[in-house]
Amino acid sequence: MDGIAAHASALWRITPLCIIRNGIPLMYSLDDTITAISSPIGEGGIGIVKMSGPDVLPILRAIFAPAAAQTPADPAWEPVSHHLYHGHIVDPETQHMVDEVLVSYMKAPHTYTRQDVGEINCHGGIVPLRRVLELTLRLGARPASPGEMTLRAFLLGRLDLAQAEAVLDVVRAKTEAGLRVAVEQLNGHLSRQIHAARVGLVEVLAYLEAAIDFPEDEIPELDVGQALSRATEALEALIAGADQGLIYRQGIRGAIVGRPNVGKSSLLNRLLRTSRAIVTPFPGTTRDTLEETINLQGIPLILVDTAGIADSTDLVERLGVERSRQALASADLALLVIDASERLFDSDLQIASLVSNKRAVVVLNKTDLPELAKTDDLLPGVQQVRISALTGEGLADLERSIVELIFSGGVVASDTPLVANPRHKQALLEALGHVKGAKHAADAGSPIDLLAIDVTAAVDALGEITGETATEDLLEVIFSEFCVGK
Ligand code: GDP
Repeated sequence: MDGIAAHASALWRITPLCIIRNGIPLMYSLDDTITAISSPIGEGGIGIVKMSGPDVLPILRAIFAPAAAQTPADPAWEPVSHHLYHGHIVDPETQHMVDEVLVSYMKAPHTYTRQDVGEINCHGGIVPLRRVLELTLRLGARPASPGEMTLRAFLLGRLDLAQAEAVLDVVRAKTEAGLRVAVEQLNGHLSRQIHAARVGLVEVLAYLEAAIDFPEDEIPELDVGQALSRATEALEALIAGADQGLIYRQGIRGAIVGRPNVGKSSLLNRLLRTSRAIVTPFPGTTRDTLEETINLQGIPLILVDTAGIADSTDLVERLGVERSRQALASADLALLVIDASERLFDSDLQIASLVSNKRAVVVLNKTDLPELAKTDDLLPGVQQVRISALTGEGLADLERSIVELIFSGGVVASDTPLVANPRHKQALLEALGHVKGAKHAADAGSPIDLLAIDVTAAVDALGEITGETATEDLLEVIFSEFCVGK
């Protein structure tokens, strides 16, 4: 067993610091001090200049005059780690006061990056922030690139890659449900599951490789088939939650379609008012559509409305069909609005045929008026909800139907972490494909080498999620999405 255990632990000793690409270790500089304005640019109550690296304390000592000391910068300043100090930033050349600040010094390793970190809370104006940033640069710090603080946290092992990505998801969460998914990922809920699946596969691999390398030796039995089945189950459970996670993270696009005057704009306005928060105003992607994001029970629902455009009367119906087609092109689901107080028009039927291949709800609007539309045969199997956009009647039912439609695949049990990142889903699918390939080979009694190839590929795919096998290119793509100072 010792041999297998040693082999397994050797495979595990691939820390993020020694990622190798084309035989060359990655050269990320970690021994200089980086600095950035970490708060959004613009006027605010406070603004923060943040530094990470070995020179944080010497730089602070050169520019920070603690209030108690009543002197210019104090070269002998001995801050207690993780405490906040009131004082002034002073330009060491001119002795001019730059700003009144609160400063904290956080000593490694219990910091965001695992290095020494310093934060200077300035007044939130562009000039004081720039001046303080310039002073840190003059004293030897280097401007941080986007996401470099979090990259250091990853490279120094405080966060794995999935957790580092979750930092950005927390910042960008569109709803509370999305935030919950991101915070769970940041806390390592997903990483622990990936890690467990990967360890199981590494054990299989160690066993297979020992059997290849030392065929003569007596190797303790491992039920490879059973181990692969366990991995399959674990990966399938994670993949099952991916669509739900992606919806919470990215939102879902719904098109409100229907011929002119059926009440599309009125419905959009109703939904905007009843949903508790408008999360982000999205600019329309085409000139002929409006987009608004609403928070529908935690789901960011991006509604695309085709209304709001002055119609020239003779073209009205044709335009209605054409605009519905455009709105549907990029939508995941459709709300087909019908004026229930009128008989169905040809264009109602034409638009209905456009949504027949989408997830859809038929919205029978204007039910406060006498009803004339005969809709029993319209889109069989598609749910119909009666509402009045004028009075608000039926809106709660409609919202419930939309949520059911979105989660028609079923909601995943809450103890399974929700995979909310397309990159993770892709890697899980890849890993699952290889695990199934290996199981197939095992069942067919194929040579051990063949099995080992698939298991290795699965281990690598899982390692891409948490970062053990991430390439430099992948890290660049991921961290370039961050803002400077994060
Ligand atoms: P759109 O062209 O499909 O966006 O339709 P609008 O939202 O502009 O509505 C067209 C007309 O129908 C307006 O005069 C609305 O006030 C009216 N309308 C919309 N919804 C209702 C409803 O539920 N009941 C009644 N009685 N009128 C409605």
